Amino acid sequence: MTFSITNILQARRVLRGIADATPLVPSPFMSRVCGQDFWLKLEIAQPIGAFKLRGAMNAVANLPEGTKGVTCCSTGNHGRGVAYAAARRGIRAVICMSNLVPQAKVDGIKALGAEVVICGQSQDEAEAESRRLVAEQGLVEISPFDDPYVIAGQGTIGYEMLEACPELDTLLVPLSGGGLAAGVAVAAKALDPRIKVIGITMERGAAMHASLAAGHPVEVEEVSSLADSLGGGIGQGNRLSFPLCRDYLDDTVLVSEEEIRSAMQTLFFEDRLIAEGASVVGLAATLAGKLPKPAGPVGTILTGRNLDMPTFAKLVSGQDVEIGSLSLKGRSYGA
Ligand SMILES: *Cc1c(COP(=O)(O)O)cnc(C)c1O
Repeated sequence: MTFSITNILQARRVLRGIADATPLVPSPFMSRVCGQDFWLKLEIAQPIGAFKLRGAMNAVANLPEGTKGVTCCSTGNHGRGVAYAAARRGIRAVICMSNLVPQAKVDGIKALGAEVVICGQSQDEAEAESRRLVAEQGLVEISPFDDPYVIAGQGTIGYEMLEACPELDTLLVPLSGGGLAAGVAVAAKALDPRIKVIGITMERGAAMHASLAAGHPVEVEEVSSLADSLGGGIGQGNRLSFPLCRDYLDDTVLVSEEEIRSAMQTLFFEDRLIAEGASVVGLAATLAGKLPKPAGPVGTILTGRNLDMPTFAKLVSGQDVEIGSLSLKGRSYGA
C-alpha cells in the first residue's frame, strides 16, 4: 500500500470547515524550559474534544454509497470521532471498548447516539468484538490507526502546524497505534525534509515503541495509565502505521506516570489548559530533560481533553490518584 502527502491533501479538502484549523499557540513557560519557542497545537478544541475526529471524518466520508453502518474498537476518542462522523452521515455506529476505558469517554460516545459494547480487558478483545459485528451485521470496521484515510486525516495536523510555523525544528507527537505520528510525519517531512519527528508514549504498555525495537509488531500487556488513550496494541497484522512509523519517525521516547502527572499540572497551572494524560507526553519528555536540545522551535499536539474531571481535580490539587491497577501518590504542583 502506498501512502503519501497526496492522501493528506485529499483529506484536507474533506475536513475543511468540519475538523480543521485548530489554533497553534505559544507556551511561554515551556519555551523558557526548552530554550526555544514551544508551540501547542490545540486539538483539544475539536468538536469532540480530540483530534480523532479528523481521521474518522475522512474515513466515513470515503465509504461507498449505501454503507449501512460502521463499527470500531476504541480507547474512547476514536469511537467518539466515528460516532460523530456516522451521525453526520446518518448511518449506524457500534463502538466496542474494553473495561479500561474511563466512563466519561463511554458517556460521551453514547451522547452522540452511537451504540456501545463493553467487552473484555483490552483493546484486542474489543477489536475481536468489532470483527464479529462486521461478519454478523454487515458493518464496516474503521481501524483507529491502521487505515489510510484515518492516517491521512490525522496527517492534516502536521500540515497545519508547518503552515502556521514553517520554522519548526522538532515535532513531539503522542504515540499509540501510530496513525497520528505516521500521518504527521509524512506531512511534515514532505513540507520540510529536515524536520525531526519524535513519537512519545508512556512506559506502561508502549506497544509501538516495543514493536519498532523488535522490528515487527509485538504484543504488550495492557495496563491502566494516566495516558489511557495511548493504551492497546498495534495489531499483529499491522499493514500501514507500523511501516510508516518505522520509516518516518526519528526516535521514540518513553515517559513515566509521575512525569505525565507533572506535565498535566504544568499545563494547567502555567498555560491554564486542561488536557488528558495522552496529550501531555511531549511536555512531559521536555520537562524531564529526556530530549536532545532542539536547534529551533518545537511543536507538540495537545491531542485531547476527554478526561474524568473528578480524577483530574484530585490530580491537579496534589491528591493521591487510583486508576485501575495504577496508584499514584499525591504531589502538589511545584513541590
Ligand atoms: C488516539 C490518541 C492518541 C494516539 O494516536 P495514535 O494514532 O493511536 O498513535 C493520542 N492522544 C489521544 C488523546 C488519543 O485519543
